[in-house]
Amino acid sequence: MLNLVLFGPPGAGKGTQSAKLIEKYHLVHLSTGDIFRANIKNETELGLLAKSYMDKGQLVPDEVTIAMLASEVNKQTDPKGFIFDGFPRTSAQAEALDALLASKETGISLMLALEVEEEELRKRLLLRGKDSGRADDLDPVVIQKRIDVYNNETMPVKDFYSAQNKYKGINGIGEIDTIFNALCKEIERTL
Ligand code: ADP
Repeated sequence: MLNLVLFGPPGAGKGTQSAKLIEKYHLVHLSTGDIFRANIKNETELGLLAKSYMDKGQLVPDEVTIAMLASEVNKQTDPKGFIFDGFPRTSAQAEALDALLASKETGISLMLALEVEEEELRKRLLLRGKDSGRADDLDPVVIQKRIDVYNNETMPVKDFYSAQNKYKGINGIGEIDTIFNALCKEIERTL
C-alpha cells in the first residue's frame, strides 16, 4: 500500500495537491477538516462538537478525531492506499495512526510536507475566505490562532516522521503543477 501523510500549515495547499494525487495514484483521500465540515453541514452530533473548536481555530480533541479517522479507514475494503490530509496534527494522533496501520499490516510510506512561510499563509487564507465561506478563514484572529496551534502542537509531528526517515519537505510556493511534480518525484522514489 502507498500511504501518504500530506503535511503543512493551514493554507499550504494540501487540499489542492491531494485532489491531484488521488487522481494519479488512485488513493483514498481522508481529510479530517473535510469530514468535520461534512458533519457540520449534516448537523450531526460530531459536527456540533467539532464546530465549537473549529470556529475558534482550536484542534478538535484527539480522542474524537482519532476515533473518527479510524472509522473512516476501517470503512474501506481493499484500498490501494491512503492520503491523510490534515491528520495527524498532534504526536498522539501520529502514534494512533501508526498503531492503526500496523494492525492492518501496513504503515506510512512517506510524509510530504508543503513548506510555506507565515506571511504568505495569512494572505492565502484571507483570500480563500472571500469565496469559500469558511468562517475560520474570514477572521484574522482565528487564522493566527490556527497558525500558532500548528507551530506549537503540529510541528512535533514532523520530528515523529523524521525519526523514521519518512519526512520530505517540498517548497509550497510556486505553480500548482511545479509543486505537484515535486511531490510525484518523491513518491516515485518510494515505489
Ligand atoms: P486548514 O489546514 O486549512 O486549517 P483543515 O480543513 O485541515 O484546514 O482544518 C480545519 C479545522 O478542522 C482545524 O482548524 C481544526 O479545528 C479541525 N481539524 C482538522 N483536522 C484535525 C485534526 N487532525 N485534529 C484536530 N482538529 C482537526
